[in-house]
Amino acid sequence: MKRNSISRRQFIQSTAAVSLAFATPKIAWGQTSADVIIIGAGMSGLSAALSLEDHGIDVLVLEGKNRVGGRVYSIDNVPGSPEGGANAIVGPRPVAVAKRFGVELIDRSNRSGTSRGRLLVLNGKIISPSDWPDSPQNPFPKESREKMPWAYVSPIVSQNNPLKSLADWVDPAHASYDISLHAFLRKQGVGDRIIQLAVDTNCLYGTSAHDASALMPLRNDVWRQKLGRINFVGKGGNQRVPEGIARNLKRRVVLHKAVSGIRSEADGVDVYCSDGAQYRARFVICSVPVPVFRNLRIEPVLTGIQEQAVKTMDYTLSTQVHITAKRPFWEDDGLPPSMWTDGPAGMVSASRNEAGEITSLAARASGFMARYLDRLGPEGAKAAVIKYIEEFRPAAKGQLTALHFHSWELDRFAGGGNYMVWGPGEVTAFHGKLWARHGRISFCGQYTSLLDRGMEGAMASGERAASEVIERL
Ligand SMILES: Cc1cc2nc3c(=O)[nH]c(=O)nc-3n(C[C@H](O)[C@H](O)[C@H](O)COP(=O)(O)OP(=O)(O)OC[C@H]3O[C@@H](n4cnc5c(N)ncnc54)[C@H](O)[C@@H]3O)c2cc1C
Repeated sequence: MKRNSISRRQFIQSTAAVSLAFATPKIAWGQTSADVIIIGAGMSGLSAALSLEDHGIDVLVLEGKNRVGGRVYSIDNVPGSPEGGANAIVGPRPVAVAKRFGVELIDRSNRSGTSRGRLLVLNGKIISPSDWPDSPQNPFPKESREKMPWAYVSPIVSQNNPLKSLADWVDPAHASYDISLHAFLRKQGVGDRIIQLAVDTNCLYGTSAHDASALMPLRNDVWRQKLGRINFVGKGGNQRVPEGIARNLKRRVVLHKAVSGIRSEADGVDVYCSDGAQYRARFVICSVPVPVFRNLRIEPVLTGIQEQAVKTMDYTLSTQVHITAKRPFWEDDGLPPSMWTDGPAGMVSASRNEAGEITSLAARASGFMARYLDRLGPEGAKAAVIKYIEEFRPAAKGQLTALHFHSWELDRFAGGGNYMVWGPGEVTAFHGKLWARHGRISFCGQYTSLLDRGMEGAMASGERAASEVIERL
């Protein structure tokens, strides 16, 4: 029997096998639940729903979690609702939608912790900016020894960036830059020790500079130039933006509805959920991140480059511990609350309220350090981060309480953090093909957005997927 010709009964059985339970179908076969079902209520899925509703189309959004927003996640059980996901609202789409649904935005530059200084901590020791140029741990050449590790690579990327517009990163003319970031930096004369400190520690692209195509930071550099530094936060947390969209949809988002399989047929699409519920629509828009999609049962199966890409693409790693302090220990030791470390605390930033007061500290580990914390589990990770900070900042001893742990890689509805990492050669091999529509299934999600990043990219992709469906309805 061919893999893509299993019977409906077999398909249900196999999706139920990955489900927690298999209950009686709630929808009779052939009955349509909506014109379009959208899987996932992150910014891309909600944006697709909004666009479709604006065209008078009946939409049902199914969301696996008990909240909307996906990787826009304000941690409401920590004072000040710090951001566990998207920090900065950048780009016209999220700003416009916040305005449309009455979510107040605040200029983030007033709240930015890092603009007030950042402490460098290597091998468990604080290194002051005045000691850094002469530190034996400083790998930078003579003329750049005053640069802090987090500020070293961006200017090199900018100075050697051949891309002029956002579309350039997928232009075959730049395929020669689809090499690893490590190889690209080596070509610019940057040594291994420098790459290890300035890129691999607190790695923004997977686990090391070997993981990402140089086209990623080159593209990000163009994006930064295009949008400038102005960015916002939603009053009360960025999650208020997706909540505003969801509240204004005609049909309520169905929460706690984890999809486990999608079957596209000639006249419609069946959607199967982990709890045994089934839905049917004329079209489906699937907005789940690639690591989640990889584990869904899809009929007919994906083939060729699309299958290969879905099986292999990974995301950045981000594991966080959110901490409150009984006393503002940074006033006691006179050092900045924000820190850049090579230890389990990763990058620590101060979360502030609208008045600029510090409400909590967020320790965000990435790369291998995120995986290390994941292995310790929530309580072990919280204890490790606090112990680590207390060791080099005695003023913090006994003052810290870790209230919240979140690993984006372990989050079963995300499977990874900020964005998908395009590996060396993958931009050339996969771009455009990864999200080609599959039968009656269209795809959206930040990873499908070629031109824009973050929330802006997610929303643009939702609009693109909605117009793809509108054309076919
Ligand atoms: C730590 C971090 C920092 C970031 N910083 C910024 C920033 O400063 N600025 C910025 O613009 N962007 C930032 N981003 C990126 C931004 O959050 C994302 O690009 C954007 O929110 C992605 O939206 P999406 O709809 O594509 O995906 P997601 O938000 O991941 O939405 C997918 C949705 O599908 C749901 N889902 C998954 N599987 C299933 C299933 N089986 N069944 C049903 N539902 C399912 C998920 O629960 C989720 O709600 C950051 C992200 C992270 C993690």
